[in-house]
Amino acid sequence: MSFNSLGLSDALLKAVSAQGYTQPSPIQQKAIPLILERKDVLASAQTGTGKTAGFTLPMLQILSQQPVLRNRPVRALVLTPTRELAAQVYENVRDYSAYVDIKSAVIFGGVNQKSQVSTLRQGVDVLIATPGRLLDLHNQRLLSLNNIEILVLDEADRMLDMGFLRDIKKIMALMPAKRQNLLFSATFSKDIKSLANSILNHPVLVEATPENTTVDKINQQVYHVDKGAKSDVLVKLISEGNWEQVLVFTRTKHGANKLTKKLLSSNISALAIHGNKSQGARTKALEGFKKGTIRVLVATDIAARGLDIPLLPHVVNFELPNISEDYVHRIGRTGRAGASGIAISLVSADEKTYLRDIEKLVGLRIPSDVISGFLPDPNAPTEIEKPQRQQRSRPRAARSTGDRNAKTAGSGNRNNQRRPSRNSNRRSD
Ligand code: AMP
Repeated sequence: MSFNSLGLSDALLKAVSAQGYTQPSPIQQKAIPLILERKDVLASAQTGTGKTAGFTLPMLQILSQQPVLRNRPVRALVLTPTRELAAQVYENVRDYSAYVDIKSAVIFGGVNQKSQVSTLRQGVDVLIATPGRLLDLHNQRLLSLNNIEILVLDEADRMLDMGFLRDIKKIMALMPAKRQNLLFSATFSKDIKSLANSILNHPVLVEATPENTTVDKINQQVYHVDKGAKSDVLVKLISEGNWEQVLVFTRTKHGANKLTKKLLSSNISALAIHGNKSQGARTKALEGFKKGTIRVLVATDIAARGLDIPLLPHVVNFELPNISEDYVHRIGRTGRAGASGIAISLVSADEKTYLRDIEKLVGLRIPSDVISGFLPDPNAPTEIEKPQRQQRSRPRAARSTGDRNAKTAGSGNRNNQRRPSRNSNRRSD
């Protein structure tokens, strides 16, 4: 199938071809015609599937076919869980709107609001926002959502994980009831289905890939190692394999900092990216990593959402995530847009339960091996570490800044330590 058959205007087709895309991805083939028909859409789309163009292209077409209103109020809103994803989506929207008369802007917390406000004052058709900053600016009467015609919830599962449900509901109440709603999510939990029921109007379900399966092109490998040997093993893999661009996931911010120090002391350039870093530091780290001046980016789960690094060859799970779905998100950073990639997990004895849960979720036995010189101790403890208390809560004051990347823990966790609740996982960013 070609892009020409999707009903997109010449201006948008020109923008698509300028990006070098020759064929629409499966999610684009399915979602674009439905959105153009003005249907509400509930889309299950894995990361790296081209979902952003899937909702942006038809959105731009719809908006560009309508007369521009006086003062250019915001007509389409894309909500994303993280600043990085917001920035990424904005870049895409700008690229795809190169040949149509549509203005777009991005707003997120962690940076001064001044330039965001001045952009909004000049009139914006498409606004990409994280929920906190959006509500902040709305409360200050610096933007209006009265003219929203299209709402996109991007990575909705992650928004719920990060505790944005209340904010999402508040935002819904600020918009006209009659609008088109598009909800994109990598995973389809019960919570997502119930959010979808409350927001979407007779939605059409679009599933580009089966639920929770990992991208076929990704070569997955597990190495069993002792916990204390992981950083040495990582240094060995990176040095001996001559890996030049590696995204490494740790479970905690502290773990990310510690590992970064270790890599630097082994003469491997590395930077950490997590919720305690300023937005400036995060942007700089990401830029350096993309340009190749930083060899290893060490990230926590939430900070890594929305990172789109073309052709990222290596992803390493320094620690397995305690939420199995996060494994799918993590390794989806590689193998994007048809490229192949390698995802390696360093698994210590106490993480074997996580590994089993992950294998159950992805329906695959991940090949596993040991590394010579680093054979794991057969008597290592197999009990899973409990999440640390201080990582599970966050002062309320921090929540009003619009930075929700660090998040509070849920109380009333029914689960035992084998499977921490989704909210308790938010301690890591
Ligand atoms: P996304 O899933 O939206 O984050 O997109 C993942 C990557 O795929 C981005 O780098 C896009 O630029 C790229 N992409 C989107 N659509 C296509 C397409 N039809 N053909 C090739 N690459 C694409």
